[in-house]
Amino acid sequence: MTMPTRGGLWALVFVMILLPQAVPAGSTGAVAPADYAMTPEAVAPSVYAVMTPARDFPSRENLGWNANMAFVVTGDGVLVFDTGSSETMGVALREAIAGVTDEPVRWIVNSHSHGDHWLGNAAFADEEPEIMAGSASIARMEAEGEGWVENFREMTEGATGDTTLRLPDTAVDERITRDLGGTEVVIIPSGGAHSPGDLSVWLPQARVLLAGDVVYSDRAPSVWDGDVARWIELLDELIALEPAVVVPGHGRLEDARTLDRLQRYLVTLWAAIEEGVEQGLADFETVPLVRERMGELVDDYPGFDDKIDRSVATTYPDVEAAVF
Ligand SMILES: [Zn+2]
Repeated sequence: MTMPTRGGLWALVFVMILLPQAVPAGSTGAVAPADYAMTPEAVAPSVYAVMTPARDFPSRENLGWNANMAFVVTGDGVLVFDTGSSETMGVALREAIAGVTDEPVRWIVNSHSHGDHWLGNAAFADEEPEIMAGSASIARMEAEGEGWVENFREMTEGATGDTTLRLPDTAVDERITRDLGGTEVVIIPSGGAHSPGDLSVWLPQARVLLAGDVVYSDRAPSVWDGDVARWIELLDELIALEPAVVVPGHGRLEDARTLDRLQRYLVTLWAAIEEGVEQGLADFETVPLVRERMGELVDDYPGFDDKIDRSVATTYPDVEAAVF
């Protein structure tokens, strides 16, 4: 950013003085933490989900809150899973946690690098939590963080406001089990299923899976940044855990059936594209075939029509490479 000239600076001051009168309250500008109605939902003893009612992309209407979050009260500090799309949203989450426990936030897991899952990290800075993410995610956050802040500011017409980036400090690239305040926590890398460096958290004692975006329910999955073949395999691994509760990155609270359903969706996507490749169709010509093969599966995934062109375009080359 270049420094404004003296004239430019005065123009800026002038605009700032005028702005409150010129713009009706509530139509633009950053929102406050209290504007987010975050209600922690106990899904097992000491495990809370903070579910967004939104099913779309960040917008003025949803104030940029479109991804779910969760936390675990261990007795020796709180583990937070994902922190939202902005620092303000992180403050809202922190306040929601404070309504449940006095314990400080000592650990954060960021499921991946997409901005709706980690930009709230800065809200917890003074508690100095250890922040974990996949190393591929950390590299992306470093390169793309400011871009996400800017994107969300535009998409929400300013609602998400300004955010200080706070990057993770611990890379997790293999499945590990940690004892956090007496709670067994298994961190599961996806192998790039939904995006490079995704992590899920499995809580064996509570039988709760904090999935992040490797699970979508009640919303069409975003596959553009991932590896559909790997994702299908990963779902086998998650199904084998036999979770009682699944907290998806996007969508509603679920049980293990959501894993089978999503796997069916991805298997159908892959198989229909394979049919298209074998018939010599181009990627865009394969879209109607995918829609037909999906049949009623689409009913469980609102937003399908908005996402399917891109899903086919990004998956097609992988199918082609696998077929030939
Ligand atoms: Zn997401």
